[in-house]
Amino acid sequence: MGRAFVYVIIGGGVAAGYAALEFTKRGVSQGELCIISEESVAPYERPALSKGFLLPEAPARLPSFHTCVGANEERLTPKWYKEHGIELVLGTRVKSADVKQKTLLTATGETISYKILIIATGIELVLGTRVKSADVKQKTLLTATGETISYKILIIATGARALKLEEFGLSGSDAANVCYLRDLADATRLVDVMQSCTGGNAVVIGGGYIGTECAASLVINKINVTMVFPAAHIMARLFTPKIASYYEDFYTAKGVKFIKGTVLSSFDVNSDGKVTAVNLRDGRRLPADMVVVGIGIRPNTDLFEGQLTLDKGGIKVNGRMQTSNSSVYAVGDVATFPVKLFGESRRLEHVDAARKSAKHAVAAIMDPEKTSEFDYLPFFYSRVFTLSWQFYGDGVGEVVHFGDFSRNTFGAYWVSKGHLVGSFLEGGTKEQYEALSKVARLKPAIEDVSELERQGLGFALVV
Ligand code: FAD
Ligand code: NDP
Repeated sequence: MGRAFVYVIIGGGVAAGYAALEFTKRGVSQGELCIISEESVAPYERPALSKGFLLPEAPARLPSFHTCVGANEERLTPKWYKEHGIELVLGTRVKSADVKQKTLLTATGETISYKILIIATGIELVLGTRVKSADVKQKTLLTATGETISYKILIIATGARALKLEEFGLSGSDAANVCYLRDLADATRLVDVMQSCTGGNAVVIGGGYIGTECAASLVINKINVTMVFPAAHIMARLFTPKIASYYEDFYTAKGVKFIKGTVLSSFDVNSDGKVTAVNLRDGRRLPADMVVVGIGIRPNTDLFEGQLTLDKGGIKVNGRMQTSNSSVYAVGDVATFPVKLFGESRRLEHVDAARKSAKHAVAAIMDPEKTSEFDYLPFFYSRVFTLSWQFYGDGVGEVVHFGDFSRNTFGAYWVSKGHLVGSFLEGGTKEQYEALSKVARLKPAIEDVSELERQGLGFALVV
């Protein structure tokens, strides 16, 4: 069995959706493009999973957040892919790749249920198919058939997977009420667990993006939240202590408790396989009806290790998003690309980078002459409760805070080697955020940081 395409995208997440739209804008022909995704739904805006999807009232559900609505572009439903002659191979994992042969081998599984199972015989002949598992309680068999798909050009958009507690020498991820959040299946499970815990206690492990956004959603769902993380404050890799303290005060006013500087050591699990308490390394024991774990991610590079050059945990690409094999491109969370503005390569785990790197790769593939090096300004954001912040550039060097932290209108600049390199603002308007983005890209020289502090947001507005 085998099919051949001109362009194949592995992974059906954010980057795949934006790449598909760009391919159609640039005139891909019917039948030329194939997207293979382990998920069973067409590409969607992953950020919705920790925000609108978790709301108790009028939650966001597919098809409303298929890509590319997050960038105010067309919403690509399964019908759209069909109409554009794009082959969407869903619910299918690529289990191996051969970049020399330009082939991918898929692992598709079909679940067959039965009333009576007679081992070694059958009425319908399903040929070329290995039964890879059987569940006699559920009366189901899972088959594994593989297909070889070949390409001329491959785009790797496999994103990342959530790190598991087991990778830190702990156990308990398989407990019925322990949740991770990476894909739609995780989010659906999280909603189920959350709905069974109203009024109960949740422990959130991790103080990064997943931890802070899920903690807010849990509170909105009337669950008591305790956050546990090793650092001195939330969002330790980006926030300064002063910025973090503003958000932590806001969370505290909503009833969230913080336990900092320690980590989980074990769970107490009951006979139903549910966690009942979380034991911390500092000796504390927290009763829990549910646990949400957000302790970082690992890019999905496995298929290409030993075949493509890796860098900083991702697949190394040049300014055209091209890997060490000229027929293979990598985009989104999995790609380590040169950030011209900083003069070094970075791997970014944010949606704007996924969207823009995907579009850039397609431009470089379809119109190589007119496509220059990717020139990206890093952009991160988050929305929790009624709050909303944006960050542009690089968070290194001396920090200059500005604005009024008691009135929700504040921000910060980062100044490194005499230049403004990063900018942050809470609760800005569209125009203010545009100014912030512009100033981070321009990297103006700063002679006097106290003058920058005095001018505050005004500095960005007049640059
Ligand atoms: P993904 O969107 O993760 O897509 C990867 C796809 O590849 C998945 O469908 C996966 O199943 C598939 N895949 C992987 N391996 C295989 C294989 N072997 N075979 C077939 N398919 C495979 N960023 C922000 O900037 N702002 C936010 O507010 C924000 N919120 C987020 C909320 C959540 C809950 C999460 C998880 C992430 C959030 N992010 C946010 C990060 C952002 O979503 C990612 O940076 C973005 O999704 C990366 O896009 P991607 O296409 O590279 O990877
Ligand atoms: P992050 O890297 O943002 O945060 C991980 C957190 O876990 C940090 O607080 C880290 O602490 C902590 N941690 C690490 N190891 C342990 C441990 N053993 N026990 C307890 N805590 C630990 O990852 P997330 O999981 O929060 O997010 C996953 C991905 O989702 C990221 O790519 C992120 O970009 C993306 N995402 C982005 C959003 C956005 O941009 N708005 C929203 C939601 C997700 P320390 O910092 O001290 O190492």
